[in-house]
Amino acid sequence: MTPSVNVVAIDGPAGAGKSTIARELARVLNLPYLDTGAMYRGITCAVLRKGVNPIDDAAVSQLALATQLEISEDGLLVDGVDATVDIRGEAVTRAVSSVAANSEVRRDLRERQRSWVALRGGGVVEGRDIATVVFPDARLKVFLTASPLVRAQRRVAQIGGDVEQIALDIAERDHKDSTRSDSPLRESENAILVDTSDRSIEDVVKQIVEVFHG
Ligand code: C5P
Repeated sequence: MTPSVNVVAIDGPAGAGKSTIARELARVLNLPYLDTGAMYRGITCAVLRKGVNPIDDAAVSQLALATQLEISEDGLLVDGVDATVDIRGEAVTRAVSSVAANSEVRRDLRERQRSWVALRGGGVVEGRDIATVVFPDARLKVFLTASPLVRAQRRVAQIGGDVEQIALDIAERDHKDSTRSDSPLRESENAILVDTSDRSIEDVVKQIVEVFHG
C-alpha cells in the first residue's frame, strides 16, 4: 500500500460541497488536488463517445483499460481530447454511476489514483471511496454531507434546472452509488463528519485545517 501520510480523503454524496472545499483545502495546505469523480466521468465520456452501452460490463472495462486520462488544474483530456465541459454534461452525469459500478473500472482507476498521489507525495483526494478503500491509511478522513434540499439548490445554482427534478436525479445517483456491491459510498469509521448545509466554505475549511494540524 502506498504510504498516505500526506493524504486528506474527502468523501460524500453529490452536492455536499466536496469539490469546492477540497480545492480550497489543497490550496491552503499546499497539496495537490485530485478529483476522482472526474476520472469516472472521463471514462464515461469515452464510453459514450464510442457508443458503448454503459451497462455492458465487458465492453466498458475493456475500453476503460485502453483509455488515457490526463488530469490537470485546468481540466481533463480523454485520449488527448479535451473533455472538461463534456464530463459535466447531462449525458455523462446520467451514465456515470453505471460505469462506476463496474469492478474492473474501479480496480483500474484505484491504481491510477494511487500512482497519481504517490508521484506527487500526497494530495487532497475527493470521491466516494477514498477513505474506505483507496487510502484507508489517509492522514485525515472527512465525510461531507448536506441536506437534500441544499444539495439540490447548489446544483441548480451551478448548472440551472428545476430544483425538484435535480433533487430526484441526485437521490437516484446517491442510491446507485451507495448500494453498489463494489466500494459503495459509505462513511469511514474514523472520518470526521461535517454537515455543510448552513456553513460557509471558509468556516468548513478552517475546521478541517485545524484537525489536520492536530
Ligand atoms: O464527484 P462526482 O459527482 O463528479 O462523481 C461522479 C460519479 O463518479 C459519482 O456519482 C460516482 O458514481 C462515481 N465516483 C465513484 N467513486 C469515486 C468518485 C466518483 O464511484 N471515488
